[in-house]
Amino acid sequence: MIFTPALFYVTAAILGLLFGSFASLAAYRWPRGEPVVTGRSRCPHCGQELGVADLVPVLSYIRARGKCRYCAAPVSPRYPLIEIATAILFVLALAAAGPGLPAIVLGLLAVGLVIITAIDLEHQVIPDQASLALGALGVAYHALLDNRMDGWISAGAGALAGFTIAWALRIVFQRLKGREALGFGDVKFFAVAGLWTGISGLADFMMISGLAGILFAVGWRWRGGDAVFPFGPALAVGLYAVVLLAASGAPQPLSLLMMR
Ligand SMILES: [Zn+2]
Repeated sequence: MIFTPALFYVTAAILGLLFGSFASLAAYRWPRGEPVVTGRSRCPHCGQELGVADLVPVLSYIRARGKCRYCAAPVSPRYPLIEIATAILFVLALAAAGPGLPAIVLGLLAVGLVIITAIDLEHQVIPDQASLALGALGVAYHALLDNRMDGWISAGAGALAGFTIAWALRIVFQRLKGREALGFGDVKFFAVAGLWTGISGLADFMMISGLAGILFAVGWRWRGGDAVFPFGPALAVGLYAVVLLAASGAPQPLSLLMMR
C-alpha cells in the first residue's frame, strides 16, 4: 500500500471531497422528499441560488467563514465535515485495496455509509432504500473479488446470521429497556453488513460496532442528546473497518485476539 503513488492519493482525496459534497446534499434532501440529483442548491435561509463558487467543497465554507455569502446566515459545519470525512474514507479505501475497481466499489460503499450516518444522526432512521442499495453493491463486490461458491455461501450465511442476531438483540433490548432501542432499520443494516463481511467477519463487525457505539453513546449523552441514540453511525464504522481490513489482507481483529 505504501507503493501507491502520491498522485493516486491526491485524486482519491479530491474525489472524496466531491462525492462528500453530493453525500451531504443527498442526506439533506432525501428525507425531505426533495430531488437528490436535479435541482439547483439554494441557501435554506434566503433562498438564493448557489453558484459554482459557493459549492467548492470545504474551501467555499472557509472563504465565507461558515456563513451564507448573500444573507450571512450561518451555514451548518456538517457540510465541510461530511466532505472531509468522505475524503478520508476514500483515501483509506485506496490504501487498503490499491488502485483499481475494488477501491472504487469501496468508495461507493463509503458514500452510502456517510449518507446513512448523516440521515440517522438527524432523523434517527436508516432508509430501507439505502440499505438495499448497499446490499446490491455488496453483491457486486463479491462478484468482483470473491466469485467462488464458498464466498457466496459465506455472504449468504453472514446476511442471515446478521439479521437473526440483530433481531434477537432487538427483542432483548426491548425487554430490558421497555422501549425500542434497536430499530428495524438497524436490523436490516445488520443483514447487509453480514453480506459484505461474510460469516467469518460478522463477529468483528459486531465487536467494532459495539465499541464504536459505546464511545458514541457517551459523546451523545455528554452533548445532551436524549436517551434514544442512533446506532447507524457505529454500524457504519464497524462495517467499513471490517471491509477495509479484509481488502488490505490484514489479520481480522478477533483472530488476532484468539492467537494470544
Ligand atoms: Zn442565504
